Amino acid sequence: MRVPFIAGNWKMHKTVHEAVVFAKELRGIVKDVTDVEIVVAPPFTAVHAVVEALRAANVAVAAQDLHWAREGAFTGEVSAEMIREAGAEYAIVGHSERRHLFGETDAIVARKVLAAVGAGLAPIVCVGESLEERERNETLAVLDRQLKEGLDGLAAEQAAGLVVAYEPVWAIGTGRTASAVQAEAAHLHIRQRLRQWFGAEAADHCRVIYGGSVKPDNIAELVREPDVDGALVGGASLEVRSFVEIVTGSRPAAV
Ligand code: PEP
Repeated sequence: MRVPFIAGNWKMHKTVHEAVVFAKELRGIVKDVTDVEIVVAPPFTAVHAVVEALRAANVAVAAQDLHWAREGAFTGEVSAEMIREAGAEYAIVGHSERRHLFGETDAIVARKVLAAVGAGLAPIVCVGESLEERERNETLAVLDRQLKEGLDGLAAEQAAGLVVAYEPVWAIGTGRTASAVQAEAAHLHIRQRLRQWFGAEAADHCRVIYGGSVKPDNIAELVREPDVDGALVGGASLEVRSFVEIVTGSRPAAV
């Protein structure tokens, strides 16, 4: 059985102070939760402080992005090695906001995935179709392209530690969630592709999580599906209470 994985993506929210206050409150509330892997993704400025605030707690830290080079003349960028040294264990790669607002391509995603793995960070790779693509019945083809190109060069043993976030663009920040049936169809397809490319062991190990307007009242229905292993949560992760309710709602006993 895969341990459910709930990650809060804070995007460009929270100062260092606000992030630390959140982390300290969260660690106290979830200290006895052993059946869900809990992750928060603060902005770069707060990564190290949040790692410190969560030291020895059962909550891990993710960066929201990374640059693929180890170091160099890349003003404004942060490398995987820097993120790992700051104490994060995960990095989100290819979030739809990076793809659509900052022109990130599948080829860039692939370089970032390899850089993350090379530095000892587990990538949370985001894929998902736009509304137009869904309406044209292209969802599975879009997922195939994003995964094939975005995971290019990854070895089977590296794929096992991967988290894939299926995030239909039309569901992110819109209040419109994919139905459990829609999510499961996409997740099952993703896992089948992972099995085909990386083998059964890696595919069975890999967490495929859903993102797109996840809230306390829809998490249980989503994670009840066999291939929905948790959630990447944006808006509802900004308040401790709603984030904790999502963690609680994903617990195997609650489902
Ligand atoms: C996200 O940013 O990955 C996301 C899913 O956002 P929201 O939960 O706000 O839709």
